[in-house]
Amino acid sequence: MGYLECTETYRKFLGQCTQCGHCTPACPSLEAAGMTLGEIARALLAAERGAQSRDEVRQRIAENPQLIQAVRGCFFCTSCKNTCFAHNDVCDLVYHARIDFQNLGLIEREAWSSVLVDQEWDIFTAYRAIHGIGYPDLTLHVENEYHQAEGDCDVAFFPGCSLAAYAPELTREIFAELATMCEKPTMIDRCCGSSLKSAGFFERAEKLCEKNVDEIEASGAKTLVCVCPGCANDMSAALKRKGVEVRVASLASFLSEHGFKPKHPLPEGELCMSKSCQDRDGTYLEETCSLLGLDEDAVKIFHGCCGAGGAVSAFSPERQAQQADSKMSFAAPGSTVVSMCPTCAYTYAFRLMSAPRDVSNKHYTELLFDSQIDWDVTFAQLSSMWYGEYGGWLAEVFA
Ligand code: SF4
Ligand code: SF4
Repeated sequence: MGYLECTETYRKFLGQCTQCGHCTPACPSLEAAGMTLGEIARALLAAERGAQSRDEVRQRIAENPQLIQAVRGCFFCTSCKNTCFAHNDVCDLVYHARIDFQNLGLIEREAWSSVLVDQEWDIFTAYRAIHGIGYPDLTLHVENEYHQAEGDCDVAFFPGCSLAAYAPELTREIFAELATMCEKPTMIDRCCGSSLKSAGFFERAEKLCEKNVDEIEASGAKTLVCVCPGCANDMSAALKRKGVEVRVASLASFLSEHGFKPKHPLPEGELCMSKSCQDRDGTYLEETCSLLGLDEDAVKIFHGCCGAGGAVSAFSPERQAQQADSKMSFAAPGSTVVSMCPTCAYTYAFRLMSAPRDVSNKHYTELLFDSQIDWDVTFAQLSSMWYGEYGGWLAEVFA
């Protein structure tokens, strides 16, 4: 009897791995674990082989710190994949390993209790509720005190959970601009579920995206405009799974198509564009540079993860901090790091708060619009949630 859910994935991966070892030096986490990706698959299969119970499998994995490091320390950045001649799919392997880790109780609850973004309360919805941030007037396809549910919208705007929570003025400014470019926009102010995937709840993440697809269908929108490449990828996949024909456009491409000109002056000094892990082919970056009037050859481009991927911070905050430092180390004093993904901007802001340096940090939408994100206020508000009036409630909800 099998005690792991994803053995087929591990077998397939191991079968395709030549054990050449090229992936290990491409990743500090694999190096720390002293493992190749193929050895992750091998170790998982070995943990199950001959085991008499799930507890025994759990125990075997729990006693293998190298395996835990390799699985929990992964950002899903795919840097290692570029070194693999077989192009083995690291994300497929590690997402499945996380599913088994979750099934076996090997991911501690405090690592994910506040990011169950398919439940009523997660860190973003709690932040929004406590600080009075909402968009009922903009979610036209949902009946509320402002309007009936409207099914004749033409564009759905998907700001993503971070931007909607931590940058309400900017989110509203973008929406107002989109409203000048189409007949009737609506907003889907939900999450794409990436935090669920990192915690090993892969199916729940997919279901959440499919629920978002139902909302898009109900709204009538034929174009989905995404701020973040990660949201765009996950929503594109969900639309495909459900056979729904809706065009997914990056915010930059949609704005470009409609003749938008940036409203904010570019920051002085060098711009260091932080390519998102999810922007695999660089399309988002290219479209954003084009809208900003930047020659891609004339700006610095950072590759690799900002440190936020894969919820590594819940396993090893030091690894996240080192990764953010390593990426920002390419930014010269006086320069500005510009992120494609709002969570990258959050991660850099958090790191700059802990370890200040002469580097500015912007999400690309801040270079396009007047509203700016005040991370000092965001972090103060995030921290204050845990004290005073709502502290007890939050501790109970996320216990
Ligand atoms: S995806 Fe990134 S973090 Fe994960 S093993 Fe590969 S290089 Fe390391
Ligand atoms: S680079 Fe690819 S083939 Fe080589 S050990 Fe890593 S996963 Fe296996």
